[in-house]
Amino acid sequence: MRLFHCDDCGHHMRLGGTRCGKCYTPKRAVQQPTALAGLTLALLAAVLVGLVLMLMRHAGI
Ligand SMILES: [Zn+2]
Repeated sequence: MRLFHCDDCGHHMRLGGTRCGKCYTPKRAVQQPTALAGLTLALLAAVLVGLVLMLMRHAGI
């Protein structure tokens, strides 16, 4: 999966590493797997909280 382009050389970067495979420039923080995982987790947590709130409202608590 190659989602990102390197800011420096335009090389297509894989999601895996933290550097460009061509010029070895470090990726932007948002493009790094840990940041993506954190973002996904935050999103999941937000969805869960939303669901719980909805269920609670539905149940009249
Ligand atoms: Zn590059």
